[in-house]
Amino acid sequence: MEKAIKKLEVPNTQCQDFPLAGVLNEINPELIKLLQQDRIFPKPLLVCSGGTSSRCTAKGHWTLDLRDKYRSIICYPKKNEVQIEAGVKMESLINLLTSKNKSFPIGLSGNTGVGYILSGGISPLSRKYGLAIDNLLEIKGVWANGERFQLAKPINTVIRKEQLEWKGLCGAASFLAIITSLKLRVQERNPILIWEETLNPYNLAEVIMSAEGWPNFGSLYWSWEEKIKVFGVFEIEDESTLNKINLILNSLPFASSNKTYIINNIGMIPPIKSENQINQELKKYSEVVGLLGKGWGEQAHQIIYKLEKLIKQRPDKNCSISSQQLGGHTAQIPKNETSFIHRESVWKPWITASWTPGDIKGKEKSLKWLENVWEFLEEVCPGVHLAQTHPHLPWHRKEMDAAFGNWIYKLKELKSSCDPKGILPPV
Ligand SMILES: Cc1cc2nc3c(=O)[nH]c(=O)nc-3n(C[C@H](O)[C@H](O)[C@H](O)COP(=O)(O)OP(=O)(O)OC[C@H]3O[C@@H](n4cnc5c(N)ncnc54)[C@H](O)[C@@H]3O)c2cc1C
Repeated sequence: MEKAIKKLEVPNTQCQDFPLAGVLNEINPELIKLLQQDRIFPKPLLVCSGGTSSRCTAKGHWTLDLRDKYRSIICYPKKNEVQIEAGVKMESLINLLTSKNKSFPIGLSGNTGVGYILSGGISPLSRKYGLAIDNLLEIKGVWANGERFQLAKPINTVIRKEQLEWKGLCGAASFLAIITSLKLRVQERNPILIWEETLNPYNLAEVIMSAEGWPNFGSLYWSWEEKIKVFGVFEIEDESTLNKINLILNSLPFASSNKTYIINNIGMIPPIKSENQINQELKKYSEVVGLLGKGWGEQAHQIIYKLEKLIKQRPDKNCSISSQQLGGHTAQIPKNETSFIHRESVWKPWITASWTPGDIKGKEKSLKWLENVWEFLEEVCPGVHLAQTHPHLPWHRKEMDAAFGNWIYKLKELKSSCDPKGILPPV
């Protein structure tokens, strides 16, 4: 094991300040031996791919940082496939694919790593192309018991060991294995029309209801902090799509103030906050919980009315409520194929609790606020998208059960054979 270092440079602000037991950066025979002989302490071992979540490191724990040594991307444009190693950021993936006129449903930030794909991967293009895990063709890695594996997407529906393993790895890999490389299916690249607006709560509810009827080439995401910023993402397949997009936007009650522009690829979608805004803000710590639920329909106004009250009560100005849209293709994949069981979901609202580093009272208040918003939204969004896990917080059991439902029992069984010593985070 390498000499212990105090801290690790990662995008997540909390994780960059944790004093660590040490950092490993290669899956070599020495590490395999440590896994087989159960010699990593304290457990669990954390894995860092993009380093954007609050669980890529943990205070006093070892982290396996894949960012330096696992950066290869090989594109096979004729086969519509790409092979990436586990330290590749989504920004690097989409830049390489764009140069080959290909695309992949990456999420709202190019800064995220392979953790984005392994946790499901909800993209503004998912309604047309599915989740990131729906585009996985092959997974390579090392089970936490030290055994290396290479699994291809199962092609029949007979229940077999590999099928269970595949299901586990698609959405719950971080509890079972260290993933080293992924083969992904890619799509043809099309230009994308972005519609961007700042709306009042009433119009937000209107656009949510409208989006629930949009074709699969369109999706909505929005974020509510001080203001409500709303973004429509429409993939332009051909001339006729442009006409359809115009019809959609012109049917909105506030159409006159529409701001639209065209981007070259999904990596260029506007961030919720500009670099400039982020640079002006003080350093904050945060935790995020992502929920999943069906369409809001006529209830949208009622829900937004209550969220407006909750937004007014937020204890820190950087606490926020946001949402992105699923449905379309994501709902067509059978529930039992992956660990992303909430296939019927149309919305993924996520709640961000934020506080100033060192402000214990502020942290408590913000996390309490997050729980209040969650409690309210739970009725319409009972599922959880486990894009971030929080074993260090009291509601971890609740998030695990809400993420996996009854599948959790099989997942625990799978873990007992892939990770019998509990080296990776517990299910
Ligand atoms: C700005 C921003 C925008 C986002 N937008 C979206 C979005 O549009 N859609 C969406 O679905 N999510 C989104 N997310 C959530 C994000 O995809 C998840 O938090 C994801 O887990 C981050 O992956 P990472 O590799 O950057 O993080 P990391 O913190 O490095 O890893 C996250 C988790 O995955 C595990 N893990 C990472 N790599 C491996 C590996 N190789 N093998 C085994 N386990 C591993 C780690 O143990 C860790 O628990 C966003 C997050 C941010 C910060």
